[in-house]
Amino acid sequence: MNKKYFISLSIAAALTIGSLPTLATTASANSSVEDLKKQQDDISSKKEQINGKIDEKKSEIDQNINKQKDIQSQIAEISTKLKDTETKIAEKTKEIDETTAKINKLKEEIEVLKKKIEERNELLKERARAIQEKGGSANYLDVLLGANSFGDFINRVTAVNTIVSADKKIMDEQKRDQAELEKKQAEVEKELADLKSSKENLESLKKDLDSQKAKKAELFKQLEAQQASLKVEKAGLEKESEELSKMEHQLEGEIQAEQARLQELARKREIERKRQAEAEAAKRAEAQQQATSSSSGGSSSSGHAEIASSTPVSAGTWTAPARGTITTNFGWDILNGERRFHYGTDIAARGSVPISAAADGYVIKSQYSSSYGNVVYITHSINGQTFTTVYAHMSSSLVSTGQAVNKGDQIGYMGDTGYSFGQHLHFELYRGSWSASHANAVNPRQYINF
Ligand SMILES: [Zn+2]
Repeated sequence: MNKKYFISLSIAAALTIGSLPTLATTASANSSVEDLKKQQDDISSKKEQINGKIDEKKSEIDQNINKQKDIQSQIAEISTKLKDTETKIAEKTKEIDETTAKINKLKEEIEVLKKKIEERNELLKERARAIQEKGGSANYLDVLLGANSFGDFINRVTAVNTIVSADKKIMDEQKRDQAELEKKQAEVEKELADLKSSKENLESLKKDLDSQKAKKAELFKQLEAQQASLKVEKAGLEKESEELSKMEHQLEGEIQAEQARLQELARKREIERKRQAEAEAAKRAEAQQQATSSSSGGSSSSGHAEIASSTPVSAGTWTAPARGTITTNFGWDILNGERRFHYGTDIAARGSVPISAAADGYVIKSQYSSSYGNVVYITHSINGQTFTTVYAHMSSSLVSTGQAVNKGDQIGYMGDTGYSFGQHLHFELYRGSWSASHANAVNPRQYINF
């Protein structure tokens, strides 16, 4: 009864590939499902990495665009300042021209004034000469004392007064003109100096702004070049990611095909098992008939004795996967204060408790997950219907992917791995395939007698 198909298939495959094409394909399919899944995982993680890089490039491009916008607004600001400065320089240049013209005009006026002063000097000299000629000397007292009558004296006094006051007036005018001239000259020169210095300031500001603008323009150019190369890099990564997606899909198809092949094999095996069971039942019936006819009835329980499991194996298609107490049923319950749907049956027991395959089938997955812990998935084909059983939280698994198992074969030990609170077996049954949404989950107790 203990048919180790897996081993016999492997040997058959190794020895007679040519003569047994179906079996050979099956043996390689078992390992190829694993290989394909591994390849798919590798591709997925590679794609994830690349997608991460694409996101990085995207954010780099965004940053670059923001920097470009920033630089553009800075350049616009500088350009406005430059325009303003250029306008001011033009104004200053105009003012300098005007002031220079003013200075030139002033110089002309100064020339005129100088001439007037010279003329006045000349007049003064003339008057002095006239007094000298009339009085012999510039001494007014001599002129007055030289009067020959009182009338003459009065005349002379009047004449001297007139000359003296005229002299004084001319002297005052000359001084005033001179002061005015000096003052005007100083003012205009100061004005010109101020204008020149502010024009110099503006020109140095313009120079500074020009160089700032040039630097910003250079930076903008660099950013544009950087963006172009970022876009190229991003496009390359996107192409790579696309190709990986294609490979992923292709592998998904291959995996599904291989799994379908495995399920088909399980179905064929089930037919074969039934045929053999029927043949053995017929043989047993024959033997029993012979035994009955020869008296005594010591029934030999041949098949079950061979199974090295403390779990009693039920007759029929299904058997309980473990001994113990059912602690949680399939359906709504509350775990850690939260209402949730429990998609399986929990069986708990103390000590070293073996876990058995609930029916004949193939191991489609034996792995560790953070939720299920050490978990085994077995596919079964029963009367043309695919079933999947899941054995979770095991302390260890004794089977590997692709392995054929018989009902009641030990596949591992009850444990407390993954999202579990105390040693128990979390057992799930699916009419069809397992899926993360548990869409095909059914109550195991509808099929299996616990
Ligand atoms: Zn559970």
